[in-house]
Amino acid sequence: MTQKELKEIGQAILQEHGIKGKIKFKKISGGRATKLGNISIPKWTLKESKNQYYALYYVIHEVSHLIQYHRGLKGCHTDEFKEIEKALMLRYNMIPIYSKAYPKKLINQQGETLYERG
Ligand SMILES: [Zn+2]
Repeated sequence: MTQKELKEIGQAILQEHGIKGKIKFKKISGGRATKLGNISIPKWTLKESKNQYYALYYVIHEVSHLIQYHRGLKGCHTDEFKEIEKALMLRYNMIPIYSKAYPKKLINQQGETLYERG
């Protein structure tokens, strides 16, 4: 997947939820999503796994924060947040194995490893 395709996936999900947002890949260490709808994704995520699964996870993570804000949900990486994130990831055949807020591993429904924290 290219940066352009990843951005398009994120934009399409936001659109489905009636959220205005902008996704940019930047040379930064950590990503963020502001309440104004600006999403920043670190460029290093593109090299973290084969086929950009990790970058796609990261886009979905930040998009999920905008959905969370849009629904007026409190907190940050809550169980409700993870439900939103997991449902979106499943569309792309990704299942997170969490270690606190972030996945230490991503697998697919066939049990294959897509990403594993190094
Ligand atoms: Zn987060």
